[in-house]
Amino acid sequence: MIKFVDVTKEYDNGTVALKNVNISIENGEFVFLVGSSGAGKTTVTKLLMREQNVTEGEIYLGDEDITKIPHKKIPYLRRKMGVVFQDFRLLEDRTVYENVEFAMQVVGASRREIRRRVPNVLNLVGLNYKAKMFPRQLSGGEQQRVALARALVNNPLILVADEPTGNLNPKTAMEIMEILENINSMGTTVIMATHAKDIVDIMKKRVIEIEDGVVVRDEQGGVYQHEPDED
Ligand code: ADP
Repeated sequence: MIKFVDVTKEYDNGTVALKNVNISIENGEFVFLVGSSGAGKTTVTKLLMREQNVTEGEIYLGDEDITKIPHKKIPYLRRKMGVVFQDFRLLEDRTVYENVEFAMQVVGASRREIRRRVPNVLNLVGLNYKAKMFPRQLSGGEQQRVALARALVNNPLILVADEPTGNLNPKTAMEIMEILENINSMGTTVIMATHAKDIVDIMKKRVIEIEDGVVVRDEQGGVYQHEPDED
């Protein structure tokens, strides 16, 4: 379980990005974080990864308050999470296979494990047949699938996706969503920050809306935006 308890984040320049945020996410949930640009969505993901630390409050991953873990243990925390971004962030001088392999090498996986796992995860995202290609030879959707494979190869508990469809056309974006849904159905918790109204409305998942650093809505099977009440 992930639990934000009264989390406030003020950056060094005085910007208060989150104010008294309380969020609780069960294992295996699929959650959209929505809200306009600057609302605080990325800050939520950065606090989860301990790329930033809270100003006040606690963040629990299971029983552990991750705001209190010492620096040297942060790599272990990050191994529990896979992350993908809008701009893919692949290594341009490595093939598809090598990009995914590298994520296992940095956590010290054995060659045997790597040989077994990389083809499996490339298969999961439907890219085995492009294993020897370089990122520049792939479409945007394919590059994002490589990034997903890389994020998943170490079997994370949680997948954090920050605007993963932001650079993709609607059809390709839906293909990425299908993969995310598939990953989620196998038990990985998925947290996706997005602006993509169409996607949120179609998927009917839990929607947490943030506005100016405050959670203003949290509902199951939600849509991107509430229609204003008619009266
Ligand atoms: P979102 O992901 O919803 O667009 P962010 O979490 O990136 O929002 O940003 C929330 C607020 O915090 C914004 O006002 C942004 O300008 C500010 N902010 C984000 N990162 C930093 C930083 N490193 N230093 C100072 N302010 C930041």
